[in-house]
Amino acid sequence: MRTTDVLVVGAGPTGLALACGLLSQGASVRVVDRAAGPATTSRANFLHARGSEVLNRLGALGTLPSEALKAMTITTYVGNRPVARLRFGDVGMRTAAPPMLISQARVEAALRARLARLGGQPEWATPLLDASQDADGVTAVLGDGQPVRARWLVGCDGTASTTRELSGIGFPGTRVSERFLLADVHLDWDLDRTGTTGWVHRDGMVGAMPMPMPEPGGPDDLWRILAYDPGEHDGKPTERQILDRVQEILSERTGHSTGPIRGATWASAFSVHRRLADSYRRGRMLLVGDAAHAHAPFGGQGMLTGLGDAENLAWKLALVVSGQARDSLLDTYQSERRPLAAKVLRGSTATTRVNIASGPVGRFLRDRMVVPLLNVSAIQRWATYSTSQLWVSYRRGPLADSGERGGLPSGWPGGRRGRRPRAGDRIADLACLRADGTPSRLHAEFGAHWALLIPAGAADACLATARRWLGERVTPLRRASGSPEVGGLDDTEPDDVGLDDVVLVRPDAHVAWRGEADSAGLERWLRNALVGEERPTR
Ligand SMILES: Cc1cc2nc3c(=O)[nH]c(=O)nc-3n(C[C@H](O)[C@H](O)[C@H](O)COP(=O)(O)OP(=O)(O)OC[C@H]3O[C@@H](n4cnc5c(N)ncnc54)[C@H](O)[C@@H]3O)c2cc1C
Repeated sequence: MRTTDVLVVGAGPTGLALACGLLSQGASVRVVDRAAGPATTSRANFLHARGSEVLNRLGALGTLPSEALKAMTITTYVGNRPVARLRFGDVGMRTAAPPMLISQARVEAALRARLARLGGQPEWATPLLDASQDADGVTAVLGDGQPVRARWLVGCDGTASTTRELSGIGFPGTRVSERFLLADVHLDWDLDRTGTTGWVHRDGMVGAMPMPMPEPGGPDDLWRILAYDPGEHDGKPTERQILDRVQEILSERTGHSTGPIRGATWASAFSVHRRLADSYRRGRMLLVGDAAHAHAPFGGQGMLTGLGDAENLAWKLALVVSGQARDSLLDTYQSERRPLAAKVLRGSTATTRVNIASGPVGRFLRDRMVVPLLNVSAIQRWATYSTSQLWVSYRRGPLADSGERGGLPSGWPGGRRGRRPRAGDRIADLACLRADGTPSRLHAEFGAHWALLIPAGAADACLATARRWLGERVTPLRRASGSPEVGGLDDTEPDDVGLDDVVLVRPDAHVAWRGEADSAGLERWLRNALVGEERPTR
């Protein structure tokens, strides 16, 4: 029987990201997918800043920022009158990677290329059919009928997840909307291609987003049209019926004349559901991405949240697989990520309800109050910030516990009351110096590594402690004074990481522990986080 440390089911963005993270941190991985090959159409088109950061840390960002469309505005019309222009700007949180208007297919291709460089590749036409688990692992049956033995099985297999079903994890939720139509179409019209355009209309909203050409050098005429089309409908529409209806809606609701739809790369009809898995783990089976949470597309949060899940789980599972941590560390994956998904689902549900409001009060509030507010620069900053997910913090999670587990006095999160970033917070992309004195940026140093910010001269004991628990994948760095310009970022935003602070940063750029050069405190945090009171055995 073939064996592997981790069987990743699903080669969508989250499965690929997880596999890259695991392989780069030393675990053996198989990635299987039931599809015959990579998807050529894209559901997601927008990746907010945190998603770009994850790709960057995984080594998969590559040329995506230069390929992305520079179309970071949303202009909203009521009738044919533009009433608001929302600009997604600089998040102001010193990110090394910008938000991108880029197709999901390109993101997946970049992840596959990274996976190949790490020695992995998805096995297509290989569905997971069955799985049973015992104390030591999971025996899975794939499409070829051959059993596979894995120490862990992770379902990255989307909203209809087979893994979730086989592990018996519930997926409660509710339907949020009636029918939406989506069509990626070739179309001539006089619409601005430097941003997305939306129309609020009493019969339902319509959105038009410019899309990059699938083939380089082709005409610049591909648009994604998303239209709300509630009411009675018989069965599942054909592609022709969707395109005809979309053409009708464009002329009825946008006030812009368009040419005829010349062709489509994708057409789909769906209703929005909001669902959250009861649990992210059952024994040796775990869920990541859409398998764990189903989103409305509004706000572009689905793939973004899935990539964050994958990065969070990858370093934990790699430590468990290598015997450096007990499997209780995996429970912190759910504790950190499920509350975030619940919050994101509340936000995307609320956005959907505003978009589809059809009663007179709802329409009045949306058209006269919410939409005009989008012109206010403070609201624009808030929208950029809240969709970016750079604010995500695990401060309330078990690994940031400042009392029993961390061994730090309670009320002193991360060892220092009120100083940010605290334990659990994302750390910004700070200027720092490598051990040999060369200037760098913190986020350039992660990859499969932990970072240890240490003051000059106090390095040895802390570094030795971190390496005793985490092995050689700990990079010592010094916080740089001044502002070396690396990657075009300036260092004007204040933070509270001083030259004398010791900060251990996880591979996902969240603060694990911070304090003074006191190796006993660091040791306590590592022991409690990784194994409780005992050292692990393989
Ligand atoms: C219209 C629309 C627009 C969207 N826009 C955005 C956006 O702008 N930004 C954003 O962040 N998100 C967006 N999303 C959400 C995003 O597309 C999803 O969140 C994302 O695809 C989830 O990735 P995943 O890897 O978890 O699952 P999926 O992409 O669904 O991948 C699951 C994979 O598992 C495979 N699989 C399924 N069952 C099995 C099995 N039994 N065995 C083996 N393989 C299996 C499938 O073939 C598939 O390849 C949008 C979604 C929609 C519908």
